[in-house]
Amino acid sequence: MTTIASNLQAVRTAIAKAAVRAGRSTDEVTLLAVSKTFSHVAIRTAHLAGQIRFAENYVQEAIEKIAALHDLTLEWHFIGPIQSNKTRIIAEKFSWVHSVDRLKIAERLSEQRPKNLPALQICLQVNISAEKSKSGISPEEVDELAIAISKLPQIRLRGLMAIPAPVENVILQRQPFTQLKEMLERLNNQGLNLDTLSMGMSHDFSAAISEGATMVRIGTAIFGNRHYGEQN
Ligand SMILES: *Cc1c(COP(=O)(O)O)cnc(C)c1O
Repeated sequence: MTTIASNLQAVRTAIAKAAVRAGRSTDEVTLLAVSKTFSHVAIRTAHLAGQIRFAENYVQEAIEKIAALHDLTLEWHFIGPIQSNKTRIIAEKFSWVHSVDRLKIAERLSEQRPKNLPALQICLQVNISAEKSKSGISPEEVDELAIAISKLPQIRLRGLMAIPAPVENVILQRQPFTQLKEMLERLNNQGLNLDTLSMGMSHDFSAAISEGATMVRIGTAIFGNRHYGEQN
């Protein structure tokens, strides 16, 4: 077995364990393989091991891989910062975008989503740990933006995404995930119909699953450490 295949198997087992511990069914949790900085060869290896959903952060890097892998049926998720001059290519090439944090970006994605494709699936990124350097809207802005975005055509608001500040302690890891879950419930109480909590990475996905994550975004635990500036 390749390293990527055995890593994937270990991650799937850990996800199942975390789900069972939380009294949840394993198929409530979708695994996204975060392939940024890794080559299309690594993605092909993961696909051979049964992985279909991949997430990318950088538009140019992603579209090259999507082109190189067009013979496979893969589902592409965009999870990186979005510049407004990149919305058209994102709307054309991806099924999901997790990192929407401005109405203007959502409007452009809505206008530019090709009519022959299903609605683009969207999550709002929330800056849950209020870090200055991080993208995402503040928790106070979520309701207004979510309601505005939910009315746009050609896109479908599915839920919320967050990248909490990294901490080692599992109890502390859970707090921001609980907050995100409560935010989602609050939106649904206002008439929205959201089903997605995109939260949990290699170091904290067990805590995220215990607080209700429906999508975990895992890179390092599958592909190994990233080396920026070169492709592996
Ligand atoms: C890189 C990245 C991940 C994956 O992080 P790992 O720690 O490698 O699992 C998940 N989400 C986002 C938004 C990322 O940029």
